[in-house]
Amino acid sequence: MSALRGLLDLVFPPACQVCRKSATFPLCAACRGAFRLVRSPVCQKCGKPLRGPSDLIFTCIPCRHRRLRFAVARAAGIYDGTLREAIHALKFKGRRALAAPLGALMAERVAGVRLPAANLVIPVPLHHRRLRERGYNQSELLAAEIASRFGLLVRSDVLVRRQATEAQSGLTLDDRRANVRGAFFAACSIEGQTVLLVDDVLSTGFTASECARALRQAGAAQVVVLTAAIVVLD
Ligand SMILES: [Zn+2]
Ligand SMILES: [Zn+2]
Repeated sequence: MSALRGLLDLVFPPACQVCRKSATFPLCAACRGAFRLVRSPVCQKCGKPLRGPSDLIFTCIPCRHRRLRFAVARAAGIYDGTLREAIHALKFKGRRALAAPLGALMAERVAGVRLPAANLVIPVPLHHRRLRERGYNQSELLAAEIASRFGLLVRSDVLVRRQATEAQSGLTLDDRRANVRGAFFAACSIEGQTVLLVDDVLSTGFTASECARALRQAGAAQVVVLTAAIVVLD
């Protein structure tokens, strides 16, 4: 089927990289319009949407009990439906062109909220084995898109994933935390820098937190996390 799909793509140039129905490359207006964007109010720490008046400033219940090492995290949309399909296509189906519209969406999201101004954009790295299998790091593609919009530098050489962690889905919360503990280190000093850490999805926040721990150890003044989507369980 995928060979046939490949052949069809040659004859009929690929259109929307999510639905493959519209002729608009790489993302059609219908798919883009179906994304559930994050709206305020959100948790002031992890960015999870909260119910309540939008002028309230507070954190979600999990954030009151856990210590996440980044300063603040924000996501563009909710990880479900069409946005989930788009991220899946970018990550697992080689549809790299989706990094441009998704990165643009993320850039709009940071532009719309008050966050510490970053000097440096750093993607959450893949383990080198996974990078070899996939051929690219989706978070790096998103980071490049965001950095170019803000005129910032992307550094993919700072953060290193030292172990090929198991997939986080299907694990308990404690196992997830243990799974990523110590998984990252910084290969060089980034003294005094405010880092915009970019990933595709924020779930428990443990991965971003471990990255932030490594970046802080390397001298980062602050770490702000930006993802295309956030997992909301309810
Ligand atoms: Zn579409
Ligand atoms: Zn929170």
